[in-house]
Amino acid sequence: MNQLITKERVRALYVLKSEHARGCPHCAPQKAKLSMVFGEGNPDAKIMFIGEDPGEEEDKLGRPFVGRAGKLLDKQIEAMGLAREEVYIANIVKCRPPDNRVPTPEEVRLCMPYLIGQIEIIKPMALVTLGATASKYLLDNPILAITRERGTWKMFRDIPLMPTYHPAYLLRSYTLENRKKVWDDLKKVLEKVGLRVPRSRSDFSGLVPK
Ligand code: URA
Repeated sequence: MNQLITKERVRALYVLKSEHARGCPHCAPQKAKLSMVFGEGNPDAKIMFIGEDPGEEEDKLGRPFVGRAGKLLDKQIEAMGLAREEVYIANIVKCRPPDNRVPTPEEVRLCMPYLIGQIEIIKPMALVTLGATASKYLLDNPILAITRERGTWKMFRDIPLMPTYHPAYLLRSYTLENRKKVWDDLKKVLEKVGLRVPRSRSDFSGLVPK
């Protein structure tokens, strides 16, 4: 049970952020040229979304999920009846790998302890891993197939974890079928944390960011 009150969580996250900026063996040596995208949101969030790594826009602004995929994630959160500020959003690694490549296992090994620190401070009621990379590393399953595993509850330590498609994948493959799958996954998350599923949004039709 996490007994931390909001003020303590804010403080603990601040301390962790400073420790990461100073001491992350992956990000700290690169801080002259890259932003450290620590993560943001409600320190008392019931739901925490976890992506892969910052992209170009995220690196520019120092914030997670603010590019095209982020706009879609915002719509998904909104469709859940929530505001972005009510959830917490972070990534497996906190600085951008070159050429948009997937982070290496070594980069993840070095940086991920800080994400785990965030999860331990926030102790959300549910984690949502966005895409294969976040799901593989948090579930410690290097051969995880996101197409097969999405939509089924897993556990990260004592926290229920729902793997779903990454919004960037959804943008590339914006079929009604995929939108429905993601929406089904998100509805399960709402149910798990005891929030009502908004009636009016039965799928993601039309939720394409301009
Ligand atoms: N994709 C991610 O996985 N994370 C971000 O922050 C942005 C895009």
